[in-house]
Amino acid sequence: MKKEKCNLCGNDNCNYILTAPDRQYKNKILTKYYHCKNCDVFFQEKNELSPNIKNFYNNDYKPHKIKSGKVQKLINKFKNIFPQTTKLDRKAKKTIKNAKSIIDIGCGNGDFIYKIQQNYPQKMYYALDISPNAFNKIRDIKGINKIVSAFTKFNTTKKFDVITLWWYLEHSITPEEDLIRINKIISDNGLLIIGVPNHKSIARYLFKSFWYNLDAPRHINIFSPKSIRKFLYKNNFLIENITFAKSTLGLVGSIKQLLNLNNKLLIILLEVIFFPISIIISWLKISDLIIIYARKNK
Ligand SMILES: [Zn+2]
Repeated sequence: MKKEKCNLCGNDNCNYILTAPDRQYKNKILTKYYHCKNCDVFFQEKNELSPNIKNFYNNDYKPHKIKSGKVQKLINKFKNIFPQTTKLDRKAKKTIKNAKSIIDIGCGNGDFIYKIQQNYPQKMYYALDISPNAFNKIRDIKGINKIVSAFTKFNTTKKFDVITLWWYLEHSITPEEDLIRINKIISDNGLLIIGVPNHKSIARYLFKSFWYNLDAPRHINIFSPKSIRKFLYKNNFLIENITFAKSTLGLVGSIKQLLNLNNKLLIILLEVIFFPISIIISWLKISDLIIIYARKNK
């Protein structure tokens, strides 16, 4: 087996973990993943694929869309009562309440910034995404600046009090460059909120290459609490808190992939069954989605 150098720390003592196909969009590609023993990140083999990663985001890429249909509306109502993947800790809520400017990088359909703006309309809001197909939820909402750009090409002299990266960093081919850029545009006491998949999770151990949040080939670096702490520290950020999401997405999504399930009712039944299990998993700190709160290390 060819030796791979870690994407994040450059260490060459890395173990081969698994090879996975594109299970979500069925692109004809196999991706190898390695584990760095030094910084604990899972990373994708560097190959000819990396510069062309854009080709693996189809026009119907789910995070850009708004799910519709009666059943989906019901699920959305339930999920709004118990927010699962972007539930913030108390301190972050307070910071957001007092913030003057907020930017969501890799905003997808814009759902997160939309919800915050509904609660606090009097702030400067920015939503950035590389794809013009994103922004579906906020396209016609006034008061949110929409920026179609790669984050690496986004030039601004503004400072932001809150910067959010929801399910972005694992997709980035330049995570270090991104953090250096964030350090420049965040206010001195600004809060950085990052949501990423966690490879130190029960779902990853159980489902291996069928793990929903592996999402090969779109996920390039997959963190753990230890690896994200090291990576942020190296780039002058200190972590204040890490929370473990109460989310059924990874578990049910993985079962769906493993058994090739398409029956919507069965999937809803699984969501209901796994909801209490996801709470226990979150208590045990082995969820496959984590939220990280960090500030500049001054
Ligand atoms: Zn490493």
